[in-house]
Amino acid sequence: MQESDLYKNKSNIEQPGSLKVPPLEGFREAIRQILDSVTDPEIPVLTIADLGIIRDIKINDDRIEVIITPTYNGCPAMDMISMNIKMALLEQGYKNVKVTSVLSPAWTTDWMTEDGKRKLKEYGIAAPDKKFSIPKDGVECPQCHSANTRLISEFGSTACKALYQCNDCKEPFDYFKCH
Ligand SMILES: [Zn+2]
Repeated sequence: MQESDLYKNKSNIEQPGSLKVPPLEGFREAIRQILDSVTDPEIPVLTIADLGIIRDIKINDDRIEVIITPTYNGCPAMDMISMNIKMALLEQGYKNVKVTSVLSPAWTTDWMTEDGKRKLKEYGIAAPDKKFSIPKDGVECPQCHSANTRLISEFGSTACKALYQCNDCKEPFDYFKCH
């Protein structure tokens, strides 16, 4: 069955129980909502929607292909995200799921939602300004909001974060530099 057949075959829509097949846009929206519940394994307050990594959702018959752009090529968290996407959809009865990574165009932190950047800050991690940039100092402290901070290490608690310390409140904090 092709995508367009979903519109023609009304019996699919009204069939109770088992796998529901609403009109295609509704179907895609349902998948998107399930994906919204998938969180980042390293930063559990962020969903993959917050990260802005979902490029497309392709539906063909009962096959679902989720296309994502990794935030950071080679980051082990991305394998976890692919797994979590499959698990979340499986829990809702979608068994035939493929997750495809597309590297181009490359992800930038601009793709993060404003909501995502805010949540990251509330979690105690300074949100990124530009892709892969590691400012020497002056990253706003998530604790006391002072800009009087300094770079301690380009690698924080994971390779994807840099470690800073606040000169005012003395708190160390992570800066999310990529993923
Ligand atoms: Zn501080």
